[in-house]
Amino acid sequence: MKILVTGGAGYIASHTNALLLEKGYEVVAIDNLSNSSPESIRRVEEITGKKIIFYKGDTRDKNLLEKIFSENDIYAVIHFAGLKAVGESCAKPLMYYENNLMANLALADVMSKHNVKRLVFSSSATVYGVPKKLPLTEQSPLSATNPYGATKLMGERIFSDLYNADKQWHIILLRYFNPVGAHPSGKIGEDPKGIPNNLMPFIAQVAVGRLPVLKVFGNDYNTHDGTGVRDYIHVMDLAEAHIKALEKIDNYGVEAINVGTGEGYSVLDMVKAFEKVSGKTIKYEFAPRRSGDVDACYANCDKAEKELGFKAKYNLYDMCRDLWRWQTLNPNGYED
Ligand code: NAD
Ligand code: UDP
Repeated sequence: MKILVTGGAGYIASHTNALLLEKGYEVVAIDNLSNSSPESIRRVEEITGKKIIFYKGDTRDKNLLEKIFSENDIYAVIHFAGLKAVGESCAKPLMYYENNLMANLALADVMSKHNVKRLVFSSSATVYGVPKKLPLTEQSPLSATNPYGATKLMGERIFSDLYNADKQWHIILLRYFNPVGAHPSGKIGEDPKGIPNNLMPFIAQVAVGRLPVLKVFGNDYNTHDGTGVRDYIHVMDLAEAHIKALEKIDNYGVEAINVGTGEGYSVLDMVKAFEKVSGKTIKYEFAPRRSGDVDACYANCDKAEKELGFKAKYNLYDMCRDLWRWQTLNPNGYED
């Protein structure tokens, strides 16, 4: 069974590809490599001993999509392709709308033409905006606080409207919380370009001496230690959620499902866990709040368990241990 994976060289996709191949699916990947390296594709092939059919190109390119769907009998699509940096989206909103929304439209159109109507879409907890009540359920109010979030919210809308117009579609909108960690082999992981925006890659780079000090954004939040609380999920658990979504997709029209652990940990909890696992001291200093950040954000994960039979297995220490292995084996990411 061939699965088309858009953004197939990226962080979450590479871990999902490894699991798809292990489970006996064939992977067809498309990526324009705007935020990834083809080395991730090669490493997944090395881990699994299986080949990926890779197309270097843009998900907005309908001619290329036509070619892919003509050359391959695609069963379903997992649509990861997208730009994802919140700060950059505020600085370059048009680039974000153009990339993320046009990719959705081109993909949906070509899928329709080829009568491939199973889709798993990478949505995000960002669609909940500023949470009013925790934990967040799929019924919590939706809003966007930045252009990136707006593209995710609009993506959900586009795919929901598509289903409403044509009930043959099966669409699962997976709302990821905070994916972290790496493949247990240490061969694939998150490889941010430049200085990481996200907490865990930043911590890992401080630990290997690539960055001098972690700035903890805010210590006056309404949380147990004053630092921001998030729901971190191991990327291998997240990969598993995609497999479950594919297995169950025909049961649904369009369905949004949270993917987290349901546990909230603070920045300092993460620093301590990473120090414990790595044996390194993470130098940190408090800094002003980062604009747009919320006190706390964590999921109610009942729906994923009930509908998909998915429950996260990895804990905080597993996430830190696997991230640390990836970082020490590849201190400069895929450039090594
Ligand atoms: P990533 O940047 O590693 O992967 C995205 C991939 O898409 C990259 O390889 C990039 O080169 C590719 N890409 C971007 N635009 C493209 C286009 N127009 N055509 C072809 N390829 C394109 O990011 P990730 O963390 O693996 O995220 C995957 C998806 O999950 C994204 O849609 C992201 O918004 C979403 N998501 C990520 C997080 C997170 O914290 N990592 C949280 C929630 C949702
Ligand atoms: N954070 C931090 N320093 C950093 C990066 C992040 O203190 O260098 C904090 C951030 O304020 C938030 C948490 O870590 O409370 C998670 O941030 P991240 O950017 O990883 O994820 P998101 O903001 O998307 O939840």
